[in-house]
Amino acid sequence: MARRRSRKRPYGQEHPELDIERARGGRYVEEGHDGTWTVQRVRSAQKSYTCPGCHQVIGPGTAHVVAIAQDTFFGAQAEIEDRRHWHSACWSARGRRR
Ligand SMILES: [Zn+2]
Repeated sequence: MARRRSRKRPYGQEHPELDIERARGGRYVEEGHDGTWTVQRVRSAQKSYTCPGCHQVIGPGTAHVVAIAQDTFFGAQAEIEDRRHWHSACWSARGRRR
């Protein structure tokens, strides 16, 4: 009567990728007048970027968003190339403009 193995716990395997992406820091899809974008919130810039909205520098350590055009879903490379770093405020202002 060796029935001891029937209830072993699947350690950490019970909850596979439950909104991992979202929990990680807010990645969402936004429909704009110029296409569909995947928007990723970034807590702290790794280096300096130029914001396409106001053409000012986003300095290292600045919270901002990265907008990736979904039209360029031909592969990870294209996706990375087409990343755009925006000030959070500039990104939301852009949505309201026409
Ligand atoms: Zn800006």
